[in-house]
Amino acid sequence: MQSNDVDIAIIGAGIAGIAAAYYLATEHKRTRILILDMGQPMALTSAASGENYRNWWPHPTMTALTDRSIGLMEDIATRTGNRFHMARRGYVLATRRSRPEDLIRQLDASYGTAPEGTIRIHEGKSAASYEPPVSADWEQAPSGVDVLLDRAMIRQHFPGFDPEIATILHVRRAGDISGQQLGQYMLEEMRAAGGRFLQARVTAITTGSPFVLEIENNGARETVRADVIINAAGPFAGHVSALHSEILPIINVLQQKIAFPDQQGAIPRQMPFSIDLDGQSIEWTAEERESLAADPNLARFLDPMPGNIHCRPDGGERGTWIKLGWAYNSTPSAPVLEPALDPNFPEIVVRGASRLHPRLKPYITAMPRERVHYGGYYPMTAENWPLIGPAKTPGVFLITALSGYGTMAACAAGDMCARWVAGAAPSTLAKQMSFARYEDQDLMAGAAGTAHRGHL
Ligand SMILES: Cc1cc2nc3c(=O)[nH]c(=O)nc-3n(C[C@H](O)[C@H](O)[C@H](O)COP(=O)(O)OP(=O)(O)OC[C@H]3O[C@@H](n4cnc5c(N)ncnc54)[C@H](O)[C@@H]3O)c2cc1C
Repeated sequence: MQSNDVDIAIIGAGIAGIAAAYYLATEHKRTRILILDMGQPMALTSAASGENYRNWWPHPTMTALTDRSIGLMEDIATRTGNRFHMARRGYVLATRRSRPEDLIRQLDASYGTAPEGTIRIHEGKSAASYEPPVSADWEQAPSGVDVLLDRAMIRQHFPGFDPEIATILHVRRAGDISGQQLGQYMLEEMRAAGGRFLQARVTAITTGSPFVLEIENNGARETVRADVIINAAGPFAGHVSALHSEILPIINVLQQKIAFPDQQGAIPRQMPFSIDLDGQSIEWTAEERESLAADPNLARFLDPMPGNIHCRPDGGERGTWIKLGWAYNSTPSAPVLEPALDPNFPEIVVRGASRLHPRLKPYITAMPRERVHYGGYYPMTAENWPLIGPAKTPGVFLITALSGYGTMAACAAGDMCARWVAGAAPSTLAKQMSFARYEDQDLMAGAAGTAHRGHL
């Protein structure tokens, strides 16, 4: 048995564990770090990410978290010549509701402290001041949110959308990145500073000073001694915490995406990430309805479905692929490494997405064979905020429950976790993101009603 002595053992080499390691190594000069992962870095949930980012959230805390993270990503993009391809055409949220006052109020709540002019309403004469998302360059993109209330204007800029769309919220500090490239960069920097990665599964933890971790790789067993443990185990964070007898308030919900070449050119290459906010009942023929009703596994698709189906071009203007997702599953499940995906998902998501994008309809019966269908878990707390900071077990820190936004939040989460571990000045969101929030009943009461809206 070989033994490894380190200051900090990080369990999980997804984007969260890597970001924590990166900030510990680069900002806090903590280099006796070992990241352990039973697989390759960035290969589990982090490989399933849609790689989208936004600073639009119904609660200002999540807006602040993602705003901070986007700022940190911009720093890295500037330093590296945008190595991880940060693009910014915004998020377009579409609804058939005219003047949805609740959504506009939410924008006010979310961007309440932002300077005047952050929320721009376009109707009548002010319609002309809207800047369409012509460029993907993040440095050229406007900030704030444009609210389009003018149907003619919506049709002019988004001619492929369902003509019933009456309102568009165009969130401008939003777009996509290569999460894989970002993770790779941070891992390289951590290694250059002296940190290490080891492919091994953590099978047991003995608490004490130091912690003793039993690890296993291809049947070979070793031990690691560490003063501090960071639990960055993604959907398996609960399993890891159980190794030191702690229970985390996290559930896992499986979500899926598909991608395929848009052979029909249905989706314009300059279209921003687009979300149909409205719930819907999928269109079926009478015959289809009858056969669905007869199948207990499929009858649910006759029921009303939630909103938030999303679609975007993938691979930039010269690419041909599109990505679609619909987080309609809300049933928690026990995580496994290779979850069974629902074979009906590709058809369901194309049917649903063709409501906002009618040009997708031909794919319902003729989807390209070359498609990719993938999935992973959203590990979630009840309020759908992450858990970053000290665990109940002294010496253990968490960077977990990153739900469907871990790629975009990784830099802020990694920075925050590193500050906790290094004992540095805490992040301004330290309380909101850690267990300490549960002691603030007012904060939690405000967070509770907004949980589902982060679920994209
Ligand atoms: C379908 C889908 C779409 C998404 N789209 C987006 C998006 O558009 N934008 C966005 O910001 N986020 C998105 N996300 C969320 C994002 O992908 C995740 O929040 C993020 O990747 C989580 O990273 P992580 O490091 O916490 O977890 P993971 O990437 O799962 O990493 C955890 C690692 O821990 C390792 N591990 C676990 N247990 C052990 C053990 N005992 N020993 C050793 N290693 C262990 C695992 O092997 C794994 O590599 C999406 C997620 C899904 C599922």
